[in-house]
Amino acid sequence: MSSTEVGEAMAHQTFDTILVLDFGSQYTHLITRRLRELNVFSEMLPCTQKIGELKFKPKGIILSGGPYSVYEEGAPHVDPAVFDLGVPILGICYGMQELAWRINPENVIAGTHREYGHSNLKAQSVNGHVDRLFEGLENTMRVWMSHGDKLAHLPEGFHTVATSDNSEYAAIAHGKKHIYGLQFHPEVTHSENGTALLRNFAVGICECNQNWTMERFMEEQIANIRRTVGEKGQVLAAVSGGVDSTVAAKLMKEAIGDRFWAVLVNNGVMRLNECEQVKKDLSEALGINLTVIDGSKEFLEGLKGVEDPEKKRKFIGGKFIDFFEAEAIKIEEAAAKDPTKAGKIEFFMQGTLYPDVIESLSFKGPSATIKTHHNVGGLPARMTNGQGLKLIEPLRSLYKDEVRALGRALGIREELVMRHPFPGPGIAVRILGEVTEEKVNIARQADHIFISEIRKAGLYDQISQAYAAVDPSRAVGVMGDKRVYGYIIILRAVTTTDYMTAEAFNFPWEVLQRIMNRIVNEVHGVSRVVYDITSKPPGTIEME
Ligand code: GLN
Repeated sequence: MSSTEVGEAMAHQTFDTILVLDFGSQYTHLITRRLRELNVFSEMLPCTQKIGELKFKPKGIILSGGPYSVYEEGAPHVDPAVFDLGVPILGICYGMQELAWRINPENVIAGTHREYGHSNLKAQSVNGHVDRLFEGLENTMRVWMSHGDKLAHLPEGFHTVATSDNSEYAAIAHGKKHIYGLQFHPEVTHSENGTALLRNFAVGICECNQNWTMERFMEEQIANIRRTVGEKGQVLAAVSGGVDSTVAAKLMKEAIGDRFWAVLVNNGVMRLNECEQVKKDLSEALGINLTVIDGSKEFLEGLKGVEDPEKKRKFIGGKFIDFFEAEAIKIEEAAAKDPTKAGKIEFFMQGTLYPDVIESLSFKGPSATIKTHHNVGGLPARMTNGQGLKLIEPLRSLYKDEVRALGRALGIREELVMRHPFPGPGIAVRILGEVTEEKVNIARQADHIFISEIRKAGLYDQISQAYAAVDPSRAVGVMGDKRVYGYIIILRAVTTTDYMTAEAFNFPWEVLQRIMNRIVNEVHGVSRVVYDITSKPPGTIEME
């Protein structure tokens, strides 16, 4: 797949960048996060990156932690050319061991016991001064360690700048060059002053400008998109009403106006009034050139009798492509005829985010092949194989909260910017078993009540994702002295930061009761309401 320069490579050309080389630690992405919180742009690449092939010159390099032992056969090692770049280098845990091992393999040995958890760090002063890394910080702090190996000796040319209860070499620095090593992890929140220490490195030592803000990024991206697309080029995209596609679409609109074409396919399993709402938001409020196609009948027809969740997903995905392609062809023909626009549709825009990019770049070990990224999941090959449409991914360097901040900078209303994620196959995967129009209506109404009550109680932003699902097994109930059998509504609300693990949201009891009351009274065909308290793992966030 060929992806254009937009979003991928441009940020590091206009913003001072700290390059993080990943040795496979589970905390590596936290280093980039912390730096960006300091308004310093940071990008991650695998530790095997050839320095000669870098498309930019970083202001500094951080070598991350990792699960290997540097002295092991097959352990990953950094391209020695990093030391010739002449920029400051900071090694964290494995990264520090790598620095020491390079100088002399005997510098690193297996420790007698693992050190995992808190440790008290003491910065050393020389002539009354601590090292620049610790400038302005307390002289003692609690830091977080996770290692089994240790330095046996100080590498040549280095001196100790901090010690801890267990590590004689908790932090080291080179006497002449800007090379530093830390045995602890400043990037985890359990390390006091960790962010301040990273600021001392990135801003103090590497002299990075703290100008990574979403306002600046927005201006840069708009200019990049214009450069890439040219005066006449046109861009096509599928939108869903979700945060990512809305923010990306608004950015495209700002850059190239109506030469950006957004298409929304109504698949019949969207939320209550959602299609109308997306039209209002994207087309009326944000002025985006939007085409809505109503495929709801065909989708619901095709879902008849399908019970298997995978089959539901496949069917919805496949049908979506049929609708989208048919519309794309119409738009392309219309675009080709319009003399004021004239340019061909050359690009396909996608709202890929940085975590997906990181996922494919992460260093997975000496033998593991690095997975290539494809978030395209089922879009026509013509649109992504580089022969037809070229891919444009303007959010490729952003984390979710940065996308939200960019949305605000673009003037998108807060409620939209803070929307919970919603799955592509919609409420079809929130109805257990076969999807019918009746069940879709029940799920929609129950979900609408659930979400409105959550908003009314002021809890929406504390919850990461919430919805009502339909369990089609019928439970007995008594309504107006009559025995009734109705569906069971399952309420699900979770909190999570990374969507990898999640906890059920702890609702005030009266809020749950009010929701239950409204659902059984207002949604015909429901006899019970239950709240799913399963955490992830073992549960998933969605039902199917
Ligand atoms: N595997 C190395 C050790 O055990 C490095 C650990 C780390 O980077 N967290 O010391």
